[in-house]
This record gives sequence, C-alpha cells and structure tokens, in this order.
Amino acid sequence: MDIYNKLLESKIKKENIYVNEDMSKHTSFKTGGKADYFIKVYSIEEIKNILKISKENNIPFLVLGNGTNVLVKDEGYKGIIIQIKMEEIHIDGTQVIVDSGTKNATLSRRLLENSLTGFEFASGIPGTIGGAIKMNAGAYGSEMKDIVLEVTYLDYDGNVHKISNDDCKFQYRSSIFSQKNAIILQAKLNFRLRKKRRNRKKSKRIINTTKRKTTT
Ligand SMILES: Cc1cc2nc3c(=O)[nH]c(=O)nc-3n(C[C@H](O)[C@H](O)[C@H](O)COP(=O)(O)OP(=O)(O)OC[C@H]3O[C@@H](n4cnc5c(N)ncnc54)[C@H](O)[C@@H]3O)c2cc1C
Repeated sequence: MDIYNKLLESKIKKENIYVNEDMSKHTSFKTGGKADYFIKVYSIEEIKNILKISKENNIPFLVLGNGTNVLVKDEGYKGIIIQIKMEEIHIDGTQVIVDSGTKNATLSRRLLENSLTGFEFASGIPGTIGGAIKMNAGAYGSEMKDIVLEVTYLDYDGNVHKISNDDCKFQYRSSIFSQKNAIILQAKLNFRLRKKRRNRKKSKRIINTTKRKTTT
C-alpha cells in the first residue's frame, strides 16, 4: 500500500493531506520547494499515527508551527511535513493550558478578554506556542522562559512526557527542544491578573509598534 493510502487508513482526513505541496504557501519567507506530503494534524492520535507510518516506512518527517522561522530548500522535502493545528486554550485562574498549534495572537486576545497580563511581549510575534517554546521566542525584554510552567511533548516513539521550566533549558532563542526529538503538544503558562483597560492599552501599544517595525 502506498503512503497516501496508509495515511488515509490511519484515519487522517483526506482534506488534511496535501500531496506534493508547495511549501512557499506555508512559510513566511514564501520560498522553498514541494513537500511529498504536507499534513495538518488536529489530535495527538493523528500525530502518533504519522510517527508510526514514518518509522515503519523509513520516511523522514518535520514539524511546522506557523512557518515563520523555517526555510524549505528549493529542492523541497522528501518526506512528511506535519503542521500542528491543535488550538485549545483552558484558562484556570492565572494558569493557562494551551495547545502548541495556538497562534500567539489568538492566545493574546483570550488573555486580554480574561484580564491576564504577561504575554504582551509575544502578541506581535507571528507564530504558534510550539514554535515560541522551541525558540524561546521573546521581545521587549521578556521571553517564553518567563511564563512557562510545564511543557508536554511527544517523543518520536509516541510516548508523552511532561517537563518543568527548568528542564526546558531555555536559553537565548533556544531550548531543550532545539536538540531533542520531540513534538511539543501543550504548555502550562503562568500569568498575572490586571485591570482590563491598562492591559489592553499595553498590548495595543506593542501591536502598533510591531506593525510599524514590520512595514518599514
Ligand atoms: C516578521 C517576523 C517577526 C518576528 N519577530 C520575532 C520576535 O520579535 N521575537 C522572536 O523571538 N522571534 C521572532 N520571529 C521569529 C518567529 O516568528 C518565532 O521564532 C516564532 O516563535 C516561530 O514560531 P512558528 O510557529 O512560526 O514556528 P515555525 O517557524 O513553524 O518553526 C520554527 C521551529 O520550531 C519547530 N516547531 C514548531 N512547532 C513545533 C512543535 N509543536 N513541536 C516541536 N517543534 C516545533 C519547527 O520544527 C522549527 O524548527 C519573527 C518572525 C517574523 C517573520
């Protein structure tokens, strides 16, 4: 059976499997060749199934968040590119559990609505939580390291692990995930409560400054 049919058999929806997909459509740099398979994944089960197919058939795979920090070679990618589309957010007081496919801007809006502060620095960074954790993304003197409590990830054998901030080994624009074979699934983040008006003003100011920076 070919890979496409194996993917379908593993219950990945047809509409989420793109064959010979032009990766310039999925990266901010808008360059790069085609990926043999580009798959949007919406659950851990789907990721596990892809890992299994990749292992059994000796096909490489690569994980993509929002594609804002990835360059695909002109000759393309001979394998499977998985784009994480899991985007749930659970708010419990000042702690937030967020799926790795959630865009920073989406989380930022939800935090504003819930009068939580501490994520304004990331509201203008154009990526997902997974990408931000891996890169320890930061701006305006703050970075992911300051807000992460725990990270849940999947190893390439399909086992789920949970690690603390310390174990993430955050450094300037890198983390343990820069070396580890891991797919970040979720993070528990910590924020502070603040009055709505002040919080919104700060976030708007950062978004406006970012807009000015990226348009010059
Ligand atoms: C206009 C512009 C402005 C930017 N400004 C900033 C800034 O101010 N500060 C800053 O730090 N960065 C900035 N960046 C860089 C980039 O946006 C960030 O690093 C961002 O966090 C990357 O997230 P992403 O979801 O797009 O990741 P991607 O680009 O898709 O991937 C980046 C890396 O993370 C990996 N990855 C993504 N998701 C996962 C996951 N779930 N599990 C495991 N690995 C994963 C990918 O394999 C890849 O190695 C900017 C980029 C652009 C284009």
